[in-house]
Amino acid sequence: MGNPFIHPILKEVAAVFRGRGKKVYLVGGAVRDLFRHHRAQDWDLATDALPEEVMTMFRRVIPTGISHGTVTVHYKGRSLEITTFRTESAYTDGRHPDQVRYAAAIEEDLSRRDFTMNALAFALPQGPLVDPFGGREDIKNRIIRCVGSGEERFREDGLRPLRAVRFAAQLGFEVEPLTLAAIPGALGITARVAPERIRDELDKIIASGEPSIAFLLMEKTGLLELLLPELGCCRGILQKGFHRFDVLDHSLLACDYSARKKAPAQVRLASLFHDIGKPPTRKMDESGIWTFYHHDRESALLTRNILRRFRYPHAFIEEVVHLVAEHMFFYEESWSDAAVRRFIIRVGEDKIRDLLEVRRADTYATAGIEPGGDFLVPFINRIDGVLAQGRAFTLKDLAVSGKDLQDIGVKPGPHMGIILRELLETVIDDPELNNRERLLEIAKNINRRYTP
Ligand code: ATP
Ligand code: MG
Repeated sequence: MGNPFIHPILKEVAAVFRGRGKKVYLVGGAVRDLFRHHRAQDWDLATDALPEEVMTMFRRVIPTGISHGTVTVHYKGRSLEITTFRTESAYTDGRHPDQVRYAAAIEEDLSRRDFTMNALAFALPQGPLVDPFGGREDIKNRIIRCVGSGEERFREDGLRPLRAVRFAAQLGFEVEPLTLAAIPGALGITARVAPERIRDELDKIIASGEPSIAFLLMEKTGLLELLLPELGCCRGILQKGFHRFDVLDHSLLACDYSARKKAPAQVRLASLFHDIGKPPTRKMDESGIWTFYHHDRESALLTRNILRRFRYPHAFIEEVVHLVAEHMFFYEESWSDAAVRRFIIRVGEDKIRDLLEVRRADTYATAGIEPGGDFLVPFINRIDGVLAQGRAFTLKDLAVSGKDLQDIGVKPGPHMGIILRELLETVIDDPELNNRERLLEIAKNINRRYTP
């Protein structure tokens, strides 16, 4: 190994520790990345200094996890997670380590870590590398292997099986067979893990370059059935027409496609979940063909349940659910401008791009064929054309207001709302009518209907 590149900021931080007679090591993902020639995104450090002491060493320190020995230091625009050497303690409740005990040496700290590739430490500023479990070699061979016995490691913390498959998708490494074989026996422990911790792993799976790697390993080990049974039961559900895959493979292909296109998380999740309503809505029609009527609605409901279960934020959930619920639009040239306008209103102007991305992923995943360059282009042109005609999309865009209606004698109250909505429908059908005189005239006519 040549000397790995150590960022100047880390060298400065190391000097601060050395000034206090303390050791500090780079640990976790950042060490992995040193040997994969990647630039680390964030830095985890381990030290023999106690958290209280670290807090006196830097000006901007936040006691983010002081109960388990972690503080976050903000230094020159970077944030560093600094944890005092620890020994393992069990996660009896699946949520928090029972108690924290500090360790005397880095080797002991490394022995509590999950995988050999994560049980490496690089002494700052210039080494040596501490590698008691052959992590360096496993990184070279691209292998994810538990430190010691998989059964024991997974029993201590039921999140670790999910971390293993997450790393497989993130790094493109193989899970070593004994480690993989230890997962099914730990499902009962995983079942008790806090949903927020699961969510953080799901997020990393979804953000990876090829999420299907993790989901297929989850299927193989029972994690999928445990955590996402709605997706698990899509296996073997065959589809008609041009579909080449069952619903599970179709969903995974769609999700991978969105990941390859670097789509936002909402689009990736919508691609993954857009068809999970198919198993519960499947019926055979008279001619012996499977149908999935209203599966979009069912998929949206199930998606909301899943994301709530894992405590995703409300607004984020609704964004994903919306994309799933709307994924079945069928544009044809014969659509009137009013129909295009209604589509824009229903989907929301700012969500259209995302929805089209979901559709592109869905189409790709039908047979694994990249849609052509002109895919959806006629529809996009129609949408742009309608948007360019001007705004007739919401009550705010109307040429008359509630105040104008009052002036012609409409009383405030529910039927004013009804009139305004009718006026909006009118201008959606024909934007030419969106001028004050015409609308007031129409409003008077409607108002007469309501006045005995
Ligand atoms: P990334 O930051 O890319 O997610 P990472 O390996 O840095 O990967 P973190 O979750 O930041 O992962 O954890 C930092 C380190 O702490 C890990 O490399 C591992 O050594 C240890 N660690 C984290 N979570 C666990 C766990 N549940 N069990 C055992 N060790 C863990
Ligand atoms: Mg990290």
